[in-house]
Order: sequence, then structure tokens, then C-alpha cells
Amino acid sequence: LAGGGSGGLYALTTNPPRIRGQAIGMAARAGAQIADAEFVQFHPTAIDCGQDPAPLATEALRGEGAHLLNRLGERFMTALHPDAELAPRDVVARAIYAQTQAGLRPVLDTRACLGDRILADFPAVAGACARAGIDPVRQPIPVAAAAHYHMGGVAVDEDGRASLDRLWVCGEASSTGLHGANRLASNGLLEALVFARRCALSIEARLGPPAQDAALITLRPAARPHRRPGAGRRLRRAMTEGAGVLRDAQGLTRCLREIAAIEAAQPDCPALLNMTATATLIAAAALMRQESRGAHCRTDFPQTLPEGRRSRLTLSQALALRASLEPETT
Ligand SMILES: Cc1cc2nc3c(=O)[nH]c(=O)nc-3n(C[C@H](O)[C@H](O)[C@H](O)COP(=O)(O)OP(=O)(O)OC[C@H]3O[C@@H](n4cnc5c(N)ncnc54)[C@H](O)[C@@H]3O)c2cc1C
Repeated sequence: LAGGGSGGLYALTTNPPRIRGQAIGMAARAGAQIADAEFVQFHPTAIDCGQDPAPLATEALRGEGAHLLNRLGERFMTALHPDAELAPRDVVARAIYAQTQAGLRPVLDTRACLGDRILADFPAVAGACARAGIDPVRQPIPVAAAAHYHMGGVAVDEDGRASLDRLWVCGEASSTGLHGANRLASNGLLEALVFARRCALSIEARLGPPAQDAALITLRPAARPHRRPGAGRRLRRAMTEGAGVLRDAQGLTRCLREIAAIEAAQPDCPALLNMTATATLIAAAALMRQESRGAHCRTDFPQTLPEGRRSRLTLSQALALRASLEPETT
């Protein structure tokens, strides 16, 4: 499996539309162990222009000296971290999220440090701004925290082997543990390349070279019901509200109940079940981890426990937790 991560389970994401936890959900439904599902990284400065996926305003802009300001003109990062805009990704993401939630509309201002150099030096950002009707030479860029990278995924060993016999997983769908609770920028592609090779070598060692005269297999997938319109949007809203940048027991519980309701409304659609499986694993693991660590921030458990440990869950365990939650009284 090399089907990518789960960013699209959230309402605001930098991930392309097909990346919605399908691969992790498939493996989980087949019984594979999932590791560190709760660790979802949010990029602090997605361009908040109503596009899906949200384009990125790269961190290199802050490296060049761009400032984060709010609607009141306050440079809010200076009060929050000694490195201000250059604080770690999770710290900046939480600050941006808090500003957005408070209605203070955070922006990234590149005008003083870059001026019109942004057009030549950052053509991807300038292009995304132009498509969104923003002129970054004259205007600050509106930003928001967006789901970007899933550190969790199918638990694999150093050869990419999952807990299920003859299943190898690499890339963002896997969880090797290399990124801990908070990936450093650029390590995602490095890991994907290294583990793709390791998987290939391990597959060859286990299964032997492919037979030269093997018959061509043609897959004819059975007709399956399509996801009902609205189910994906409902799931993405539930994940953003309950299992997003800031989490607590109440929100995660509500999120798990909502995932169960979405699933119950269409229990025969595999594509939706893959998504709800991954969503259930993320929210259940986040509920079980009663501490804050890296990208996982529990407002009701702000401390980091002295000993770091990885989480491992099967879908059955996550579903048992979900089923054990008392129904909400209205
Ligand atoms: C905007 C952006 C910028 C990034 N920048 C960097 C960076 O600078 N450095 C870095 O290291 N990382 C970066 N990342 C992260 C990195 O790009 C990803 O982690 C990496 O691409 C994951 O590779 P992958 O092969 O596992 O999955 P993907 O590249 O996501 O590919 C998965 C493929 O599986 C397909 N697929 C999914 N479901 C199914 C299905 N059911 N059936 C068939 N096919 C399916 C998808 O269509 C897709 O082609 C960035 C990510 C984003 C979104």
C-alpha cells in the first residue's frame, strides 16, 4: 500500500482530494495494527482563500522575515515564543488557529521583507495568491492552519512490513515512527523514498522474483455504492471541530459519536468506511492519549508525560472504545 495519508478527513487541508485516509482505512478494516494515529500535523500557513486543497504559503517566507499579524495589527507570535514566527510548526499552528477562532483573521505579511521579490523568489506562492485574487506585493496573505501530514498510519517494521502477513506499506500511509509526534519539514519524502526501497527488497526476499510467464491479472471491482453527497463534508467538519488542532475529551467524544452516525447512515459504502475507519482511529487514539505531545494538543491534558510511548490500535479496539461512549443526552 502506498496510498498516502489522511489530510482530506479535515475541512481545511493542503492534501489533494484523493488523500482521505483510504489506504490506512483499508488496512485497518483488514485487521492491521495502526500506530500513532493521533499525530496529525497541521501546517500553520495555508493560504485561507476558500480553495480545496488550500495552497501553501511556505515556511521559507517566515525564514525571509515575514511577520504574522492579526486584524488588529498585532504581531502575536512575539508574545508566545522566543523565536516568534520561527517557532516550531505545531506552536505556530496553534497560535494561528487560536487567532482564527477568535475572529482575528491572521495574515502573513511579506511586504517589508520581500516586496516584489516574492514574485521571482517564490513563484508558487505568488501564483497561488494571484489565482486567489491576492496581490502579496501590496497585501498581506490571509492564512489558516490546515491538516498537512499524518505521522500515524499502518504500523510497519524497518522493512515496511505491517502486522498482516504479506502486507507492506510505505509513504504517508505507513507509520515507521521516524517522525515521532511531529515531523520535521522535508522528512516525509525522504522517508517515503527510503522505505519504498526497503519494501521492494523485502517483498523480493519474501516472494522471490516475479515469474516471467505469470498471467496478467485484470481487476474487475464489483459495483459498489458511491458515497452519498454530504457524508464527506459532514465527516470533515466533525474531524475539524473535534479532532483538530486543539482537542479535549468532550470534543473527541462528540466527534466519535458523529463518525458512528455518519457510518450508520451508509454502512455499505467501502470508500466511506475506509474514511470513517481512519477517522475513528485518529479520534480514539487522541482520546486515549491523555497528554500533549508534538502535534497532539489536549487542552484538558496540557502537560507532556516524562516517558514518550507510541500508540498502537486495531480498528476493533477503536470501535470498542467508540461503542462504549454514552449516547449524548439532549
Ligand atoms: C502541499 C504539500 C507540500 C509538501 N511539501 C513537502 C516537502 O517539501 N517535503 C516533504 O518531505 N514532504 C512534503 N509534503 C508531504 C509529502 O508530499 C507527502 O508525505 C508524500 O507525497 C506522501 O507520499 P506517498 O507516496 O505516501 O503518498 P501520495 O504522494 O499522497 O500518493 C498517494 C497516491 O495514492 C493514490 N490513491 C489514494 N487512494 C487510492 C485508492 N483507493 N486507490 C488507488 N489509488 C489511491 C493517490 O491518488 C495518490 O496518487 C508535502 C505535502 C503537501 C500536501
